[in-house]
Amino acid sequence: MSTRHAAVIGHPVTHSLSPAIHTAGFRSTGVDWDYSAIDVPPEGLAAFVSDLSRTTLHGLSVTMPHKNAICALVDEVDATSALLASANTVTIDETGRTRAHTTDGDGFCDALVEAGVSIDGSRFLVLGAGGAARSIVEALVRHRAGRVGVSNRTVDTARSLVETMGEPVTLVSAGFLADEVSNSDVLVNATNVGMGSRQTPLDCNLLRSDLVVVDIVYHPLETELLRRARAAGCATVDGLRMLIHQAVRQQVLWTGMRPDTTMMTEAARRALESRPVS
Ligand code: NAP
Repeated sequence: MSTRHAAVIGHPVTHSLSPAIHTAGFRSTGVDWDYSAIDVPPEGLAAFVSDLSRTTLHGLSVTMPHKNAICALVDEVDATSALLASANTVTIDETGRTRAHTTDGDGFCDALVEAGVSIDGSRFLVLGAGGAARSIVEALVRHRAGRVGVSNRTVDTARSLVETMGEPVTLVSAGFLADEVSNSDVLVNATNVGMGSRQTPLDCNLLRSDLVVVDIVYHPLETELLRRARAAGCATVDGLRMLIHQAVRQQVLWTGMRPDTTMMTEAARRALESRPVS
């Protein structure tokens, strides 16, 4: 059998860590797959997907801005992606049939489990209501979180997420954020705040030592939020853990083999080391 190909599609994709992570993953299982980054502008996405059956591509990672649009272009969409109207993974079978999947939310939950953080019955506060936050909240509900509060700069976006998910997801308005932090077991930053900067998504004086703080931002690896959380005595989980675990699930979907997370993490760390933080 000849080499199979997988790729991340997005626009832009130059800075994606996925090629480093997935190449290390394929190497760890010894499968004959390779991985590249393909820049697909929005106006070229439909043609790219309809040509897939004529290529050697058997798997796609899907990143911004295509996560929503991809769902309307594939042959099948799994239940979670249909609910979220968003997908980050495509499988392409022998006949060229395409199926969209979402691995972000379960990858997030895998990262928590790996870190020894209990989900079942725990109280979560999620900052953000964008694509990543939606996947995380959906997965937390499926994994039986006790309560999931959602707070977002644009309140209507958070309200729409809460209405889509229903119980036990609740809207947290800015005025109640401090109360909600003190009533939560796990705080999750799922906003862009802190990516490539030293900004924090909330007042770090609210952090207390029995809170677990998770930041899905992975550049810098220790964000200012995680640095402040660690200084306050909190257990922390960095964004690389979710990034690795969502990629692990992608490789399982494509190849049926579970790659080695240590090799993938080392490759990601090497790729991150060269990036500046302002
Ligand atoms: P997105 O769909 O664009 O959502 C961005 C979210 O951040 C929105 O809730 C937005 O609020 C909020 N936000 C942006 N700037 C803000 C600011 N200055 N103050 C307060 N809130 C702000 O992006 P996404 O795909 O959800 O990604 C969010 C972050 O997660 C990115 O940094 C991304 O790299 C990271 N991520 C990590 C992983 C991983 O595996 N570790 C996976 C996916 C994403 P509004 O609604 O008010 O605009």
